[in-house]
Amino acid sequence: MDQPHKFAFIDSALSERAQRQHMRSLSSLQPDDAVHVRKKGKILLNFSSNDYLGLSKHPMLIDAVCADARHYGTGATASRLVVGTYDIHQQLEAQFAAACGRDTALLFSSGFQANATILPALVDRQSLVLCDRLVHSSLIQGILSSRARFSRYRHNDLEHLETLLRRAIDRPYQRILIATETLFSMDGDRSDVTALAQLAQRYNAILYLDDAHALGVYGKHGMGLAAHHEGVDIVVGTFGKAFGSFGAVVTCAQAIRDYLINRCPGFIYTTALPPPIVGAIAAALDLMPTLDHERQMLLQMAYYVRQQLQQLGYDTGASDSHIIPVRVETEQRALQLADWLETGGILAAAIRPPTVAPGTARIRISLSSRHTADHIEQLINRIRVWNPSESPS
Ligand SMILES: *Cc1c(COP(=O)(O)O)cnc(C)c1O
Repeated sequence: MDQPHKFAFIDSALSERAQRQHMRSLSSLQPDDAVHVRKKGKILLNFSSNDYLGLSKHPMLIDAVCADARHYGTGATASRLVVGTYDIHQQLEAQFAAACGRDTALLFSSGFQANATILPALVDRQSLVLCDRLVHSSLIQGILSSRARFSRYRHNDLEHLETLLRRAIDRPYQRILIATETLFSMDGDRSDVTALAQLAQRYNAILYLDDAHALGVYGKHGMGLAAHHEGVDIVVGTFGKAFGSFGAVVTCAQAIRDYLINRCPGFIYTTALPPPIVGAIAAALDLMPTLDHERQMLLQMAYYVRQQLQQLGYDTGASDSHIIPVRVETEQRALQLADWLETGGILAAAIRPPTVAPGTARIRISLSSRHTADHIEQLINRIRVWNPSESPS
């Protein structure tokens, strides 16, 4: 008897992806400096990186990495609860919490791991989770594996959220948790943290905020949109973006931190962050208060770019940040525009479904404080002369 090939599901998934032109693949680059990369030998101006302050190439971070590697070694050798907690982990957590005006902080290996594993530790089958329709995949993973009931409210529509809260309050849920992002990764628009905190308080809900793209860029000394904020229970920040390195952090009350150390598998059963990474994060944290000018320039530049794009007739959605979608609707157009930019020496990734909703394909432009006025003109000029009807399809 002929048995089906045991990996037939892989062939069919891949061919389905290919047929719908959703096939994804990796291409490799070499970084040149904070805003340039080399692709197949060609230097490209990079508008796709999340290194919003150029810190991944900062000499102070690189020196800290080398110093901590020499002093502590390249790896932490164990999980935090075994022998992987060094003084530098504890110091970084205390400093980070203080800088955010929050009780405590706890390091995680990555933002994905934090969201995917903290949420299931906080909610269960008897709980309800309400999240924004556009939240990051890692939050959805966490919610799904918690087995909580969940509904998504319309993007940034707090009236819709309140309707769902009002409906939920008479039901026998043990807990209600609201999860959203402070600055949306694909749209560059922000949540109203104050209003969310009020709603959470009014309905006795836990408020869980993902500050990944705001950390380093917004808030006092760049400590994020959720820092120094009353009524926010749990905040996740990531260090792979404006902090220029890797890893993540959650800030919360002492009891919640204790609880996570005891009950969150994604914290317990994984190796502690490597000392050189801890060094890089600590150096970035030291630099944060000195970068107010860079942040201001970045946001001014973002305002200018949005204005220019709008004048060219492009829809930049609700963005009011350094993350700027250039919406072109169809996937094909997004890919054509990305190709057009790349031919002109500019790297800006096409973002298409399923990462974003069908019909909202776009180029995602992310700006860095290291981009110059000249870089911005190159970008705008290249987009200005794009003629979609002439692009080969
Ligand atoms: C990037 C990102 C994450 C994941 O963080 P990593 O540290 O890269 O795993 C989580 N949430 C949001 C909103 C993100 O943009």
